[in-house]
Formats: sequence, structure tokens, C-alpha cells
Amino acid sequence: MKKAIFCIVLGLVWFSVVPCSAFDGAFTLKTKNATLSINKKGILEIVQNGSKSVIARTPIDDLWKIGLINNSDNKEYYISPLKTYSISSGVDAICFEINALLVGDKSVEVDANFIISLKDDAFCFSGWLKCNSDEWLFKELEYPRLTEIMPGEKKNKSIFWPAGLGEYIKNSEKFGDENLWYPSVQGTCMPWFSINYEDAGLYVGCHDSLQATKKLNLSYVKSDKMFRTSITTPLYRTKYKIPDVMVKLYKGQWYNAARFYRNWYDMHFKPFSAPGWVTNNSGWLLAILKQQNEEVIWNYRDIDKLCNIAQQFNLGTIGLFGWAAGGHDHLYPNFPPDNLMGGREELKKAIKRAHKRGIKIILYANAKIMDTSTDFYRLNGIETILLDKNMRPDIQFYIKQKNATPVIFAQACNGSELWRKTMIDLGIQAVNLGADGILYDQLGVLKPDLCFSKSHDHSPGESDADFRQILLSEVNRKVKAVNPDFIVMTESSTDVNIQSVDYFHGCGIGTAEWRKEFPELFRYTFPELVTTQRNANPMLTKTEANFAAVYGMRHEIEIRYPGDKKYVLNNEVTNEDYTNVVDPPNLEMLKQFTAEESAAYVNSLIEFQNEHADFFRKGRFIDQEGIAIKGDNIVAKGFLNGEKLGVVVWNKNLEDEKDFQISVDGYQLINAFEIGSGKVDALTAIKANSIRLLVYHREIY
Ligand SMILES: [Zn+2]
Repeated sequence: MKKAIFCIVLGLVWFSVVPCSAFDGAFTLKTKNATLSINKKGILEIVQNGSKSVIARTPIDDLWKIGLINNSDNKEYYISPLKTYSISSGVDAICFEINALLVGDKSVEVDANFIISLKDDAFCFSGWLKCNSDEWLFKELEYPRLTEIMPGEKKNKSIFWPAGLGEYIKNSEKFGDENLWYPSVQGTCMPWFSINYEDAGLYVGCHDSLQATKKLNLSYVKSDKMFRTSITTPLYRTKYKIPDVMVKLYKGQWYNAARFYRNWYDMHFKPFSAPGWVTNNSGWLLAILKQQNEEVIWNYRDIDKLCNIAQQFNLGTIGLFGWAAGGHDHLYPNFPPDNLMGGREELKKAIKRAHKRGIKIILYANAKIMDTSTDFYRLNGIETILLDKNMRPDIQFYIKQKNATPVIFAQACNGSELWRKTMIDLGIQAVNLGADGILYDQLGVLKPDLCFSKSHDHSPGESDADFRQILLSEVNRKVKAVNPDFIVMTESSTDVNIQSVDYFHGCGIGTAEWRKEFPELFRYTFPELVTTQRNANPMLTKTEANFAAVYGMRHEIEIRYPGDKKYVLNNEVTNEDYTNVVDPPNLEMLKQFTAEESAAYVNSLIEFQNEHADFFRKGRFIDQEGIAIKGDNIVAKGFLNGEKLGVVVWNKNLEDEKDFQISVDGYQLINAFEIGSGKVDALTAIKANSIRLLVYHREIY
């Protein structure tokens, strides 16, 4: 053993001194499936029990990296252990203790413990940091760093990766260098991933009861055929309790990893319980009434026409975007009703007429940006905007029309009490206008950038992630006190905002068939999720509509431009209508199907889902667990409801009828249904691009 590694007696009762000569083999922790040990060369290894298969390996000198900032000159330094620690072991734990960090020839006094322990049959990496010098600040921590995961030629390494709603990368060679910020759709919906091989997997997950901002890093090193991972936490503070990062080797499919995370989650958090109408809702029609360039597409009286279209498609909700005086985001957060579009009273009357037809109305707001041309920005910006470490605003723009000067936005920080109050006031305004909900755009989308404002409710150098949640909770409390059925929506879901949002507008990876990736990951872990699919078109193809049904998402169409309006009202579509539009709908699809043709199928599909609401609306998404399916391009997903299981089978082939085989462990097939056909023979060939619902009952022994 290297002389630089020495052992000391810790103040903790359960730790014992380990003589240096006993280093080899003395540091061993064992779970059901794996053993973690530190050998005499200072190498940490996790080996599968019953074999010599190395699952992970890392030199102790690389196990963590601490970023320090010198307060006098703001210079940053990054320190690895480099043998400046002492190590000891106790009951089910190994502890590394540090009393100083060497920065060049300077010694920075700290108290730090990095602990590896056994917890929930996993290896748990935790600890704490404390800086004892006024001269220094912790900037960030990277820990644990596992530099060699599954080294060697082991076949069939695949990755379940939580980008968006989830990705499944079947071939590790195709996995590059990925970094996900948590929590956000620009990063990750939940802080765990799994690397699988044969019939086992390695789970790496952050079990942080504060759900704090962090970054998951995973890269595949092709030359060595292995992965490298670490968790980075921004700090900007002098004390920090390192939350648990769990590393667990498990047997079986990825469902076991999802359940492991969910079991921990349930001990600390609870997904929100939305009003009943949300559970039964079929989806929404998103309409921009007035664009960012102030071009009016629909007046308030035209909301009747939007109700006609929504009913044609059988959609139960309309989301009104660009409904206020400035148009879409323009002049935001000044968002009063627009007199030129009909004024406040006309808007209220139109909402009431929609209600009489059974349609809910959601009003748009944005919780993360403000128009810099407004008095609000000029007078309140310094109090409400996010400031980077150089005290500069984060400037954004979203170009909608090619010939319009882009509106310039600054990112807001929800750590500002004034910003949260402004958002809450918009919620109250929406209630008073008679709407059924408010959508706070981008709240779940934008990654948690760090804010260095000294006037906000967070410390400088923290993100506003916690305060996004505080805003949602405050809004919910206030609006539901007026109308318990009023809902709060946002764009894109994470395991953080699912605790305070009733209904999600889908966004990003996993929310459409054309970018399906692997929504199973989040849907299985959080089956409570009620989200729309994402479809920026004024129609739905049969494929996209079927995708939403099979994955248990609600449907969506979007009418954003005058060209979209012509399409839904007159079935006209020309390229010229979109020459000035930066992000047009898929015109090829619009030319392929009329709005009536699309609406006819979506309407019948939704009718079918409503008839079988026990599965499509109220069933728990179980993916394919326990369901064996065979067939060419046949997908089947299960929805569990008590003793009954509905399996939605989709023949994705666009041309051919296909045979398929299916079996479900422990269940007996009872019935089968297709759209418009009532009961059908369950296992006969299924028509091209069609779905069939098979209903099973749990077998009684
Ligand atoms: Zn801030």
C-alpha cells in the first residue's frame, strides 16, 4: 500500500482503525449481487457476486473532484483526492476524511467526509463538505466519479437514459458524451439511469430528498469499450451535505431499476392529484389567437369556431395562446385582454359559451421570460431577472416570422418574490376571466441556470429550481381556493413538477412518434402522468394519434398561423401561406389528409378511448412487463386497472394486415375490441396502422 494513504481514528463510534497493512481486502462491502472493494493499489472495484466480472472500477485518486473559488480574485481551482485523505472502515461503510486541500503550495483548511455505505442493498455514495477558510468557497462537486464501467468486451450493453421522457440506446457504441441537467426537459425528467447487459443492469441514481440542481454525466469511451460517469453539483457555498447517490447491480429487466427509484421517491414525495375532469380529458386544441408580430388570427368571438374544430376532433380542451393585448409573448408579462380582439367581457362570454358545450379553456402565461421592451422590464427587471456570474441578463429570442423584428426576452428568476407574485396575479386573472386553467410555459423546459442576483430568495449561485416549485404550489393554493377544478399546467414533465402540476403540455423527446425514443421510461416510473403528446400541426396523422393512445398520452392539434386556420376551416393548404413562417407545420402531411379526414379518425379513436376509459384514462401504464408479444412491427402496451388488464396492440405497418401472438403471465383473455367494430376476434390478423384492445382478467387459482 502506498505510504501516502494513512489511517486515523475518526470521532464516530462505529468506525474502527484499520491498520495500513490490512488495507488490502479490509475495505469490502457486499450487496446481494455485487461486492465493492478497495485494493492495495487504491483501486475501487465493484464485482458481480459469483463471477469475476468487473462492473465498475475507479482509482480512489479519481473518486471525486472539488471546484474551489478564491474569494479575493475569483479564480477557480479543481482538486482531486491525490492521496490527501485518510481512510477507515466500520460497519457497512468506508470513510475518506480530508482536512486540507492543496491548491498549488497553499493549503485550504476543510472538513470533508466521503462515505461509501450499504443502503437498500446498494452502494451509497454520500458525505459532507465544510470550508474553514474565509478566503475560499466551494464552486462545485463531482462525486462519485466512476471512470470505468463495464470494461471489456461484454456484449449487448444498452442504456436506459432519462433525456426528456426517456431514451433507450440499444448499442453502447452509439452512445456519445451526454450531460443532463436536472430537473428540466433540456436535461432530465428524473435523476437515474441504467446500463444493462444480458439479464442484469447497473443502476446509478441520485436519491436526493431536496431534488437539488445537478448534472448527470455519462460517456462511452469507444477505445476502451467502457462507460464513464459522474454527478456534478453546483455549490457556491461553504457547507454542503452530499445527498445519496446509489449504485446498484440488479438482476432482471430495467423495470427493477424504475421500481427501485420509485420506491425511494414514494418515501419523500407524492405526485399531484388532479381534478377528475383532467383524468377523463381527451386532449387539447392549442390555438394562437394573436401572433408575436401582432397579426390577429382569431378574435374572441372566433373561440366559437375553435370549439367547433375541437368538437370535430373530439378534444375536450382548448389552450388559448397569444390571447392578450401584445400577442404571443410580446409585451409579456403585461397580459390584459385585448380590446381590439373584443375586450374583457367578450372573452368572458366566449369562455362561458365554450363551457356550455363541455369544453374547457386554458389561458397561456410564461413563467420564465419577459419582454425587454416593457415597462415591467425597465422598472422591475433588476428585481426579477436571472443574472449570470458576471451579473449579465440571459437574453433569449424566439423567431416566429421571417420579416418581423424578433422580440427580445430576458430570462426571469422564480427566486424573485415579485416575479412569483406577478405570475400568481396572472393565475388569479385567469380564474376571474372564467377560464379552467393557466399554463405556465417553459417552467419545466428551461434548464436550471444558476442565478447570481443578490436580491432573490436563493443564495447567489443557486438555480431557481426550488422556487419554480414554490411558485406552482402558491398558485395552486390561491386559484384552487377560488375554484377547486381550476388547473395549473406547464410544458414538459419531470419528477419534480409532477408534484404540483395537474396536466402537462408534452414537449421534447418521447412526446411524438417521429421522436419517440423511449417514453416508456418515465411513463412506467410515473404512470400518474397526464400529458398531451406534442404535435405542432393543425391535424393528427393516424400514426401520431395511435402513438398517443398506445403510450397513454392525450391528443393534441395546434393552430398557430393563418395558414393553419385556412387548412382547418377550408381544407386549403399552400406553401405560399407559410413562406414567412419560421417553424411551419408539416405541409406534406397537411396535403396528404384533409382536416375532415384527420378529425374523423381522431374523433372515433377518442370515442373508443372514452368507451374503454378504465384502461385508456384510468389504467396504470405497465409497458410490456409480463406481456410477451410477437409480430412484425407490432407494439403492445399494458394498462392495469385492479384485476383487469387492457393491452393495446398496434400494427404499425402502414400497408399490411399482420398476424401477431401475445401471452400475458397470470392473466386470462376475456375480450377484444376495435374502433367502430365492437367486439372482435382477439388474435386474428390486425389491419394496417390499427389498434386493438385486448382485455384480460387476473387468473384465480
Ligand atoms: Zn435568481
